[in-house]
Amino acid sequence: MISKVLIANRGEIALRVLRACKELGIATVAVHSTADADAMHVRLADESVCIGPPPSRESYLNIHQIVAACEITGADAVHPGYGFLSENAKFAEILDAHGITFIGPTAEHIRIMGDKITAKKTAEALGIPVVPGSDGEVKPENALDVARKIGFPVLIKATAGGGGRGMKVARSEADLEEAVSTARSEALAAFGNDAVYMEKYLGKPRHIEIQVVGDGMGNAVHLGERDCSLQRRHQKVWEEANSPALNVEQRMKIGQICADAMKKLKYRGAGTVEFLYENGEFYFIEMNTRLQVEHPITEAITGIDLVHEQIRVASGAGLSVRQEDIVFSGHAIECRINAEDPRTFVPSPGTITHFHAPGGLGVRVDSGAYQGYRIPPYYDSLIGKLIVHGRTRVECMMRLRRVLDEFVIDGIKTTLPLFQDLIGNQDIANGDYDIHWLENYLASKTDA
Ligand code: ADP
Repeated sequence: MISKVLIANRGEIALRVLRACKELGIATVAVHSTADADAMHVRLADESVCIGPPPSRESYLNIHQIVAACEITGADAVHPGYGFLSENAKFAEILDAHGITFIGPTAEHIRIMGDKITAKKTAEALGIPVVPGSDGEVKPENALDVARKIGFPVLIKATAGGGGRGMKVARSEADLEEAVSTARSEALAAFGNDAVYMEKYLGKPRHIEIQVVGDGMGNAVHLGERDCSLQRRHQKVWEEANSPALNVEQRMKIGQICADAMKKLKYRGAGTVEFLYENGEFYFIEMNTRLQVEHPITEAITGIDLVHEQIRVASGAGLSVRQEDIVFSGHAIECRINAEDPRTFVPSPGTITHFHAPGGLGVRVDSGAYQGYRIPPYYDSLIGKLIVHGRTRVECMMRLRRVLDEFVIDGIKTTLPLFQDLIGNQDIANGDYDIHWLENYLASKTDA
C-alpha cells in the first residue's frame, strides 16, 4: 500500500492530487522551486522540499532532486500530475529502480505512446480507428508518392511531436516539398529529432477524446468522452462532456473500443485516447498516458475521482468500478483560466489583489490562486479551472453564465472575459463548432 505520496508538480494540479491523497488518508510531500515557496500546494502539504531555482529544468524537471526528496521524506510513491515528468519513461524507470511507486503507467507504455508512429501502429493493432496516413516515417524522397496515395490535403507531423509543433499542411503537390522541409526543421529544433510522418488532413473535425483507466492486469473501463474542439494554437480553452456531437450509441461504441484496447494492452493507470471526429468517423491521433487538465468534467458527469483510481491501481488495489457501474449524468463544461490578456493572449503574471471564487450547486474551482498570490513568470499561464455541472447542457450553460459573473480576479489580466463572450454566442449555444471555430472567431473579432 502507498502511505506517502510526493507530488512532482505545482499549481492547481499539485493541489488536486493533494486533495485526493488527503481523502485516502495518505501523507503528502510537496516539492517546489524557490519561486513557488508561497504556493498553495506547499502550504497544504504535510511536508515540503525545495528542489531548486525557478527554471523548470533545474527544479520540476530535475529527476535527481526529486528522487532525493523522496528519500529524505520517505515518500513511497510519486504522482507526476500532467506536463513536467508525467510522460517521461526514464523517470518512471528510475523511480522503479529506487523502489518508489510511479503513479502512472509502465515505462514501456509511456514509451510506446510517446512516439507518434509507434503509438499509431499500436492503436491500429489494438482495433482503434486511425487517420489514414503513411506507413511510418516519411523522407523528402518518398513524400510525393505517399501524399498521392493518401490524397491531398495532407498533414506532415513530427514523430516526437507535442503541443502542435512540427506540423505543416500541404494542400497540393506544389506545397509539399516546403511543408516537409519546414516540418522537419521545426521538429529538429523543438524535439532534437527531425523524423516526420504524414496523415490525411481533415478539414473540419472535432477533437473528441475518451477517458480510460486500467488496472494493469487486464481490466479497464472507459468514462465516456470529452469534446475539446475549442482550441487556440492547438491549446484547449473550453472542454465539455458529453460532446454535443455524439449520441449514446456512438459514445458507448467508441468508449468500448478504447476500453477493450486497454484490456489487451494491460494498461495501468489513467489515460486519454484522442481522436479527430468528422462525418461520423473517429480517427486516432494520440494517447496521453497521464491525467489531463480537463479530467474534472469527466469526474463531474460520472462522480468518479480519477486520482483515487490512479492511486488504487498504482498500489495494486484494482479499479473501484466496473463498466456497468458507470453512469453518465448531466453535462459539464470546463473553462481554463489563464493569466493572459483575453484579447492578445500575452501572459500577465503579477500579484492577485482581489480573488473571489464562485460557489453554489454544480460549481468546482480548481486553483492554487488566492488574494495576495504573486504569479511567477516562469511557468505556464494556467491559474485555475472553472468546472460547472448541470442536469442538461442548457442548465449547465445557464449556470456557467451566472458563475462567470461572480468570479473576481483583480490585479492581473485573465481569460475570464473570453468565456463571458463565448457564453453569449449562438454557435456555442448550439454546440456547433469544430477545431478551427475559435481561431476563426478570434480572427473575426480583431478584424472588426
Ligand atoms: P500534438 O501532440 O503536437 O498536440 P496531435 O497529434 O495531438 O499533436 O494534434 C494536435 C492538433 O492538431 C489536433 O488537436 C488537431 O487540431 C490538429 N491535427 C492533428 N492531426 C490532424 C489531421 N490529420 N487533420 C487535421 N488536423 C489535425
